[in-house]
Amino acid sequence: MMSECKECQKNPVIILSESQKLCKSHFLKYFEGKVIKTIKKYGLIEKKDRLAVAVSGGKDSIATLHIINQFLKPQKREVIAILVDEGIKGYREKTIKDAQAFCKKEQIPLIITSFKDEFGKTLDQIVKSQSKKKGQEKMNACAYCGVFRRVLLNNAAKELGITKIATGHNLDDEAQSILMNQLKVNWKRSAGLGPISGINVQKTAQRIKPLYFLPEKEVATYAYLMKFGVKFTQCPYSHESFRGDVRDMINGLEEKHPGSKHSIVNSLMNLLPILKEKYKEGKFGYCKICHEPSSKEICNSCQLIERLNLNDKIRTKKELNKSIKKSRLKKTKSRK
Ligand code: SF4
Ligand code: ZN
Repeated sequence: MMSECKECQKNPVIILSESQKLCKSHFLKYFEGKVIKTIKKYGLIEKKDRLAVAVSGGKDSIATLHIINQFLKPQKREVIAILVDEGIKGYREKTIKDAQAFCKKEQIPLIITSFKDEFGKTLDQIVKSQSKKKGQEKMNACAYCGVFRRVLLNNAAKELGITKIATGHNLDDEAQSILMNQLKVNWKRSAGLGPISGINVQKTAQRIKPLYFLPEKEVATYAYLMKFGVKFTQCPYSHESFRGDVRDMINGLEEKHPGSKHSIVNSLMNLLPILKEKYKEGKFGYCKICHEPSSKEICNSCQLIERLNLNDKIRTKKELNKSIKKSRLKKTKSRK
């Protein structure tokens, strides 16, 4: 039988560890306290920052958006939600609805930018079109998704004057990224991990991860108790990914050896200063095609656009910025 909350006599809603069982109100306090502590300890939000949250409509990004909004409100500062619609049928349209409902309720401006508008094709269409091409090795959906999402987020942030983009990455996500990089012997990529992305020599908005030290189970419990009304669905492409296999492996490890996820993340935190020093940024040139900062002659995004023959469909930056401005204007008006 479950004993009582560590802080009071009420029934616990969650067991964090054998010695830490918490009731609803003490768990919410613990969770929000841990996020604020991360924000302050690692300087994730500074006075000069203009904040956006990359939302998908899932539990992690909505929890991040809610807490950041609460954090900024007393300072009379605004947060903007940016959603990238990749075009994943049967999945993304549902999470967009959840994000719209949440932002309407909390009166947060929401900007939606899409693969279809920017690249002329949805992710589903991209995946289908490449499976028809002979002689070309098939890439999985996540490989396109990650690169193009990043471009769209950066473009929107630039247009909106955003200096930092918060994402909903939690402890589980980070432990997976660390192990994935290790298995691919990619220490350079690990140097870019941590609660805040590296020195901003690329002049793109820095990424911050306020849920960095919170396991997925706790984020799910928080979203459920807060009645955010989000669906606990998974992207249909997620099973294809390397990340999915690593996630299963780490979950198995955590079950047998509780604390493994924390240990993986803490080991990176110890190494991070050395990695950041070793892979110091600063050698950035510019992509020959799009002229955005890139460590390669042709950036990842332009390479994929080339591979997929999307050149004639891609919108100019001017067109994209115009549409972001228009939707920003619409949202601002509807808040009044
Ligand atoms: Fe994109 Fe892959 Fe994530 Fe789906 S699982 S949203 S395809 S990165
Ligand atoms: Zn480029």
